[in-house]
Amino acid sequence: MTSAGNSKEVKKDEIAELARRRGFLWQAFEIYGGAAGFYDYGPLGARLKRRIEEEWRDFYTREGFYEIETTNIAPREIFESSGHLESFADQAVVCNHCKNFFRVAEGVKVSENCPECGGELEAAGEFNLMFQTRIGVPKGESDSGVKKSEGYLRPETAQGIFLNFQRLLRFNRDKLPFGIIQIGKAYRNEISPRKSLIRLREFTMAEAEVFVDPKEKNNHPRFEDVKDRMLRIVPGEDEGGEEEEESLEEAVRSGIIANEYLGYHIAKVDEFLERIGIPRAKVRFRQHLREEMAHYATDCWDAEFLSERYGWMEIVGVADRGDYDLSAHASFSNADMSVHTEPEKIIPHVIEPSYGIDRIIYALLESSFYEEQVGKEKRKVLRLKSEITPIKAAVFPLLNRDELKKKAREVFQKLRDASIFVEYDDSGSIGRRYRRQDEIGTPYCITIDYETLEDNTVTIRERDTMKQVRVPIAEVKDVLLKRE
Ligand SMILES: [Zn+2]
Repeated sequence: MTSAGNSKEVKKDEIAELARRRGFLWQAFEIYGGAAGFYDYGPLGARLKRRIEEEWRDFYTREGFYEIETTNIAPREIFESSGHLESFADQAVVCNHCKNFFRVAEGVKVSENCPECGGELEAAGEFNLMFQTRIGVPKGESDSGVKKSEGYLRPETAQGIFLNFQRLLRFNRDKLPFGIIQIGKAYRNEISPRKSLIRLREFTMAEAEVFVDPKEKNNHPRFEDVKDRMLRIVPGEDEGGEEEEESLEEAVRSGIIANEYLGYHIAKVDEFLERIGIPRAKVRFRQHLREEMAHYATDCWDAEFLSERYGWMEIVGVADRGDYDLSAHASFSNADMSVHTEPEKIIPHVIEPSYGIDRIIYALLESSFYEEQVGKEKRKVLRLKSEITPIKAAVFPLLNRDELKKKAREVFQKLRDASIFVEYDDSGSIGRRYRRQDEIGTPYCITIDYETLEDNTVTIRERDTMKQVRVPIAEVKDVLLKRE
């Protein structure tokens, strides 16, 4: 086994090439030349994504949260109320020479030259990031008719949860706190989406909205469970901005993290990322500076992943949205968003962990990929946790002989029938078949040989150690399902 340090020598594009060749990720609309900011997941990528989403769902369901599913399109007035029409915009600059647009927040400034061609840049104003669409047929030519037909693709899944707040509160027997989760697509018309999975125009978010009485924000019932967790944090400017390692409890008690609820959910994000296999050494939490905070947030922390290619990049945001959203929708729609708590009526506050699933997939691919020399060959491996690998095991006949293939097919079908996702492969040498599976992260390879025909045992080869053990067919299932 080699250390993760080896991956540093890996060529930059190796992961992208592997992802494309092995069916994880494909440029969307490829046969028409593609379009920046759009990717499709191939058979293995789609499976990896589902498994991460399932882990996420399980994780927050254990918190007692329910999941809902709301629409991707909403009428204009929703985003007037939420502030997105007014404020969900990026500053852009344009190159005088090649006419490319760049996002100012990416570190490109008017004072610099074009990163593509070196030409001069000039300010190009503010661009709203929402995709506009039309709902139905506009009624006549009147202003109001046109306005009614105007819709937008959601830039976050959260709004659908806020809009259903009254019903969700009733569902929760009029009691706070409660949490609601949603996984789904969101859309942002990014100015310059040049970074593969990092900046997409259509992407998957997994968000939890936790509704809490503002007086209870420093009283999370399970704070004790997470308070000793050590976190690598970078406080905002007011706190000095130096990276430090602190326990969650210290960070909350000293006021760096604003309250227990926010702190609890920062710790939960850290726990989830560790659970799916993002190395802890590559994760830190950075507090937003005032000017980069979204229009709805009162405090916001990013979980950042240290990419070898892109540097520190946001993969999860944890925001204290205060009562911003519920108050805004209450005043624009006239709906009552308040909750009776003794002795008064209050508007709940919202704590929101918001995960970018595509970026997490990038982080997993990058951090789990390594190469090592085995004999004369280079072995490429995706060291993904077996809980999230697209394929749980591959079944091989040792040689290309009918009696071995028949037995291997039987074992394959038996495991598929037990809902274990296995693959069958009899093409090429056994060594090549192992390499193919290593490269896509399959944790186990099961080989059927002549001994199998005599005593019903198979060899199971483990991906990381390449060690082989002989196991009765009846016990294969248990070996594959044991959690690490
Ligand atoms: Zn240029």
